[in-house]
Amino acid sequence: MKNKDQNIATIAVHAGLNDTTGITDVTSPIHLSTTFQRNNDGSHSDFTYTRINNPNREAVEKKIAAIEGSATAIAFSSGLAAINSLFENILEPGSHVIIPDDCYHGTRNLLAVFFKRWKVEFEEADMTDVSKIMKLIRPDTKLIMIETPSNPQLKITDISAVAVLAKEHSIITVCDNTFATPLLQKPLEMGIDYVMYSSTKFFSGHSDILGGIITTNHISELSDRIREYQKTAGAVPSPFDCWLLNRSLATLPLRFPVQCGNAQKIAEFLKAHSKIEKVFYPGLDSHPDHEVAIKQMTNGFGSIVSVLIRGDKKDAFTFTSRLAIFKHATSLGGVESLVEHRRSAEGNHPVSQDNLIRISVGIEYVDDLIEDLRQALG
Ligand code: PLP
Repeated sequence: MKNKDQNIATIAVHAGLNDTTGITDVTSPIHLSTTFQRNNDGSHSDFTYTRINNPNREAVEKKIAAIEGSATAIAFSSGLAAINSLFENILEPGSHVIIPDDCYHGTRNLLAVFFKRWKVEFEEADMTDVSKIMKLIRPDTKLIMIETPSNPQLKITDISAVAVLAKEHSIITVCDNTFATPLLQKPLEMGIDYVMYSSTKFFSGHSDILGGIITTNHISELSDRIREYQKTAGAVPSPFDCWLLNRSLATLPLRFPVQCGNAQKIAEFLKAHSKIEKVFYPGLDSHPDHEVAIKQMTNGFGSIVSVLIRGDKKDAFTFTSRLAIFKHATSLGGVESLVEHRRSAEGNHPVSQDNLIRISVGIEYVDDLIEDLRQALG
């Protein structure tokens, strides 16, 4: 039936849709369609329904796997959705988990509140000392989760040492590599089983996408299950977010080294300032884990610097309120510099000192950033 013979209801739905075959875009289009046409016999291309797969999701997963050098990458709607998928598929009711004592509070919260119903037990270790992890291992320990540099104390864990220890006890390892990105360290190459990212942070780089990524080199029953879980549980990123993330990743190798270089200079400036009680930054030779950081990180030490402001919470807030360039907001990893009073964000399990401010250093001109910090410290 020709268009002119169709009812307007049919025309309004079908007219003006282009067949994209043969269109030679230089940048990829956004495939917003939630569903894809099948052949008359029911057979189909790689795409049937966007929760199952979508060209933009597949494209960004391929890009991240290529950047990471991993066998696969699986994209989720947030970093915590990625962590939850790992927990749901690795853990069993009653499993024991070891996490860092300075773990991202959302990860700890997931275990403390939601996996409590599964009677999952977790213990926190000071992971700067691998022997402390070893002491916590039990026959029912299923998972050791590491986070290095950690959030917000910037503690460093010896990744290879944990991988060796875990393998000796047949325990699965996960590394939250959000703060380092694959530009600074590749935990899969150091023997870790699964690496996860909050792609909301440096991968996005512009504070406008929520996302989470899991990568691995072992294609196994477990990794297949996680891939299946992505499709079935449905915590998937939208095509637009995947497209945006794909575009953002193109500039990660330009953005992140500038952020790391700025952070190093800012950490050195703050360390010498009389109004600062302590600086946490693995790039400083005064950092207790600096040698381990040098061993396993290349090209820099990240763009997050935490400080203890001399004084109390009031002094910390006086400092943040005087800043002109740095914005006071949660999150990190964007091109814009942010500060955050961490304890205020840690909910019902606050662990940070009341005078701790976490600084996410952006790509601004570093002398401007230092001048802003200088005037705010007074
Ligand atoms: N891991 C780390 C180290 C984080 O800092 C965050 C968020 O701040 C997450 C995981 C959770 O990521 P999302 O907020 O994308 O769920």
